[in-house]
Amino acid sequence: MLKDRISEGVYAVISDLYFEVTAGFIITPEGVILIDSFPFPSEAREFKKAVLKETSLPIRYLILTHYHADHSLGSYLFEEAEIIAHEKTRTLLRTEGAKRLAEAKRQNPDLEEARIVLPHITFSGEMYLYLGGKHLRLFELPGHSPDSIAIFIEEGGILFAGDLVMPIPYLADGDVDTMIASFESLKELNIEQLVQGHRGVLLRGEIPGVLDENINYLKAIKAKVSKAVEEGLPLEKVLEIDVEDCGKSRIVMGNMTNYIHRANLAALYRALTGSDAR
Ligand SMILES: [Zn+2]
Repeated sequence: MLKDRISEGVYAVISDLYFEVTAGFIITPEGVILIDSFPFPSEAREFKKAVLKETSLPIRYLILTHYHADHSLGSYLFEEAEIIAHEKTRTLLRTEGAKRLAEAKRQNPDLEEARIVLPHITFSGEMYLYLGGKHLRLFELPGHSPDSIAIFIEEGGILFAGDLVMPIPYLADGDVDTMIASFESLKELNIEQLVQGHRGVLLRGEIPGVLDENINYLKAIKAKVSKAVEEGLPLEKVLEIDVEDCGKSRIVMGNMTNYIHRANLAALYRALTGSDAR
């Protein structure tokens, strides 16, 4: 994993095992705050070591950006931390998260020891966390999933945006209009550095362009799938809509680009037709 010190006491940590999923930690004189916890036990342990290398202060809090396993499964290895998440994250971990973990365990023996740990502190709307001179604002940022939040560190203007922002937007179990609104809302924030849910950090100068590119991509797929549905085209045809015709490079996220793009098209098709085709 790659550890990147992005500001005074603030680090982004990027996986080399799972699609550059990005977590982070914040060191304050009163203890450490983690943001997300990686999917695989080996990497969650490596994450802990990376923190311990920088400080011997206790890990006080673990904030989860959303319930998806690649951001939350390692939480059980941080027993000393109080876990903070959206109220919906707690519900989704208990239901969807537990179900998906049971399935994943059948396929991956490395996950045998993993277990779901539910958040201790939850919120909806927004909450503030003050620790050792750092002021964190946690707020809803849905669209990728219904429970997604972001964390804004006032000192340094650093936003951990969760999976709303990755090289290609991923509707997963979210919603396209909600996602567009979330991207628009980020334009109001004075962000110096933006930590994406996958593939690390964007700098101030890149952020407006990335937000617009992502909004344009979402508007393009929505328009194209709507048109195809109006014309009565079947899902197979909808899945032929090319990612580059929607304003995203084919290589923006390696071989995941096309996987995510097709999943987005299928999700929109299902939403617009009310079908459960996959
Ligand atoms: Zn996710």
